Amino acid sequence: MVNKQAIVIGAGIVGLATARALAIKGHSVTVFDRSQQAVGASIRNFGMIWPIGQPEGKLYNRAIRSRDVWKEACEGAGIWHEAAGSLHLAYHADEMQVLTELNDMFNQQGRRVSLLDKSDIIQKYDAVNPDNLLGGLYSSDEMVVDPGEAISKLPEYFTKEYGIEFNWGKCVSYIADQTIYIGNEEEHEADTIFVCSGADFETLYPEAYAAMPITKCKLQMMRLASQPDNWRTGTSLCGGLSLIHYNSFKTAPSLAELKDRYQNESGAYLDWGVHVMVSQNGKGELTIGDSHEYGLTFDPFDKAFINKMILDYGKQFACFKDWSLMESWNGIYPKLTNGETEICISPEKGVYIVNGLGGAGMTLSFGLAEEIVSAI
Ligand SMILES: Cc1cc2nc3c(=O)[nH]c(=O)nc-3n(C[C@H](O)[C@H](O)[C@H](O)COP(=O)(O)OP(=O)(O)OC[C@H]3O[C@@H](n4cnc5c(N)ncnc54)[C@H](O)[C@@H]3O)c2cc1C
Repeated sequence: MVNKQAIVIGAGIVGLATARALAIKGHSVTVFDRSQQAVGASIRNFGMIWPIGQPEGKLYNRAIRSRDVWKEACEGAGIWHEAAGSLHLAYHADEMQVLTELNDMFNQQGRRVSLLDKSDIIQKYDAVNPDNLLGGLYSSDEMVVDPGEAISKLPEYFTKEYGIEFNWGKCVSYIADQTIYIGNEEEHEADTIFVCSGADFETLYPEAYAAMPITKCKLQMMRLASQPDNWRTGTSLCGGLSLIHYNSFKTAPSLAELKDRYQNESGAYLDWGVHVMVSQNGKGELTIGDSHEYGLTFDPFDKAFINKMILDYGKQFACFKDWSLMESWNGIYPKLTNGETEICISPEKGVYIVNGLGGAGMTLSFGLAEEIVSAI
């Protein structure tokens, strides 16, 4: 048994997953977060654990491993979760063509996907708009959690299960010689320190961030009312624009042509990086988004026209019982600009920065953290 001291900075999903992996390896783990509870990207997302978006091989396997850890942790912690799967919908022949190609490809890879025709979909999912519907690609790999609930309950569970200690409201302002400093008042030493501080590039190792191929992405999101009479969508839903969003879809031969059509007909959607997905949580509420704006500093305000674009597009493929808007917000995640899917660097002895998971942190963190921790 190792029994070394480890510190993790940040209690978002990357920090939680890292703390878990370190504790399982035998470290005595303490987590510090600047807020009284994690309120970063990890509670602002769809809660989609989304293997379908990951390309074959290392990343898909990492997503499946993460999903399995999520399932185990949710069961252990009493966190609501649903093996909802996902349904990508086609309303145009070129979208159906891409879905057909993906279905062939994914089936060859052994993924649990199937192509559904219009009647299959209408019979099973009354949340789907049948007008002009051609078909869809269903995958059963995907899972949904309610991110607010999950990220707030995991710490208590990890304390009980792995003895991980959490310190809230503690902003780590400096690290040197394997010691973290919280202002001038506290310092703590550890053998290993992980910096999992999400979109904060400015506080710890700003010079390391300045040298990284990394930027930030702001996304707008909305929550619609809890649906009446316990009505459920039955799966997570995506419109055609999502096909140009995920790396795993890029190998479809007809994708480039589809993207050209979107560019010509719906240029504003591409300009604002809007594609539309919907997940439903345990309370019956619908989370719908999103958009993508890139930069190092954003104005803090949400743009009403982007929310309208998202809702308008959603209404093309979804028939919900209640579209009342309950909440809207934005989230910011770091995004690598060199096409890589994560960064793990050591800015000084015993310290590691893990970041850059972009729009897939909920999907990949548990698996990635196990890989990183087993390699150090
Ligand atoms: C709108 C939106 C939708 C998304 N949808 C999905 C999805 O459905 N599926 C999916 O897989 N991924 C999704 N993602 C991506 C995913 O949410 C992120 O990849 C992930 O949450 C990043 O986790 P993190 O721990 O790095 O960051 P965060 O959750 O932001 O956590 C960082 C933590 O570090 C703390 N911190 C920072 N600096 C310090 C410091 N100096 N001292 C102490 N604490 C500090 C902060 O307080 C914060 O709690 C989405 C992201 C967004 C924004």
